[in-house]
Amino acid sequence: MNALTKPENLSTREIQDLDSAHFLHPFTDYKDLATRGARVITKADGIYVWDSEGSKMLDAMSGLWCVNVGYGRKELADAAYQQMMTLPFYNSFFQTTNVPAVKLAARLSALAPKVGDRSFDHVFYSSSGSESNDSNVRMVRRYWDLLGQPQRKVIISRQNAYHGSTMAGASLGGMSGMHAQGDLPIPNITHIEQPYFFENGLPGETSDEFGIRAARWLEEKILAVGPDKVAAFIAEPIQGAGGVIIPPATYWPEIQRIVDKYGILLISDEVICAFGRLGHWFAYEKFGYKPDLVTFAKAVTSGYIPLGGVMVGNRVAQVLIDKGGEFNHGYTYSGHPVACAVALANIDIMEQELLLDKVRGEVGAYFAKRYAELNEHPLVGLAETSGLVAGMVLVKNKATKERFSSEDAVGMLCRAHCFNNGLIMRAVGDRMIIAPPLTMTLSDIDELMRLIRQALDFTLRDLKQMGRV
Ligand code: PMP
Repeated sequence: MNALTKPENLSTREIQDLDSAHFLHPFTDYKDLATRGARVITKADGIYVWDSEGSKMLDAMSGLWCVNVGYGRKELADAAYQQMMTLPFYNSFFQTTNVPAVKLAARLSALAPKVGDRSFDHVFYSSSGSESNDSNVRMVRRYWDLLGQPQRKVIISRQNAYHGSTMAGASLGGMSGMHAQGDLPIPNITHIEQPYFFENGLPGETSDEFGIRAARWLEEKILAVGPDKVAAFIAEPIQGAGGVIIPPATYWPEIQRIVDKYGILLISDEVICAFGRLGHWFAYEKFGYKPDLVTFAKAVTSGYIPLGGVMVGNRVAQVLIDKGGEFNHGYTYSGHPVACAVALANIDIMEQELLLDKVRGEVGAYFAKRYAELNEHPLVGLAETSGLVAGMVLVKNKATKERFSSEDAVGMLCRAHCFNNGLIMRAVGDRMIIAPPLTMTLSDIDELMRLIRQALDFTLRDLKQMGRV
């Protein structure tokens, strides 16, 4: 009997062999993975996941910034089951709709706070963050076409941003490795430098001064492109996949001033930051800016089932609706009833368990306090949090802020020590990042900090042995 006919009893080695024989993973060096064998994750509960060898790991990345209500939620499984038995699928192309999609759109509209003259009464659905950003590009272009300004095509983004992996998503993103492989960006997308103070702050410059200077790169770019050609600016409130880069407090207000001055649309990509990650349903509220389009995905269902979308602000929605004509864009799964039913149940959990209040209150404050203590560690250049997301840069020399070279692979070294000692933490170059479930208790936070400190100690020990520090 071969492995395929006996799937329940596969050994880890057999699963790994089948995995490398048939499964092309995202963002993976296939040859390298085949020699190592993938770690097989088999079950999860609460804030922990287990692998096929029985190792238990505290999942400080919530899967991939998704599982905000934690694992093992029967309510979400029940919502999916009930909806599958009632109406597992129907499209929304043929002037048809379904009840969960309508209820969720109304619920999200109610949750998205009004800011200034912006309200969010409409939702466009997709199944992922990447698709949602493709929809943004389509919607932005349609908006300016309908307003008789079809020459406004250029979307400005930032280096080291992550907006997805489709052609448009990867183009909007500022990841040079992705651009290099895809002949990207597609035309009419251009980038400015990111607001990374630790890296780009000048000697003697304060973080607030840097925030203004970094925001003004947008104005310079608008002027270079030509203000009448610029359609929109897209940015994550906090850059997630780029390494949890938290902008200075002055950055967003200055960005707002600039987009207002030139009348360009503002897209807030909240695929990571929405649904409680920063203690709010949507992150623009925390920073106080006024987006026109808000991208969401991931934690809208806590990752239990794929769903994404765009909150469409009144400025754009009114033009799309009032000017009429068909919008030639959409997906088979736009408004998928099962995904929407799970999202509704997920929002119920967040409300019932007061998860956002906890992030803004005691849990968030304790997380910030304990995480800040990591700044004492000799390897840590700067450890920062916002809500329940955190990043730290590992440095060779704390006093001079000297960075490791890419050959040192310090992040991968630290990540291996995390994985091998019961902690899932992500490495982005020399940055270590986490986004734990919002259900973390104070004692869970203590345990998380113990595990992080231990991984840092092991990393430092190895670096010393290798003569790298
Ligand atoms: N935007 C942001 C800010 C993201 O972090 C991500 C994924 N990490 C995406 C878009 C793409 O989402 P997806 O992988 O669901 O396509």
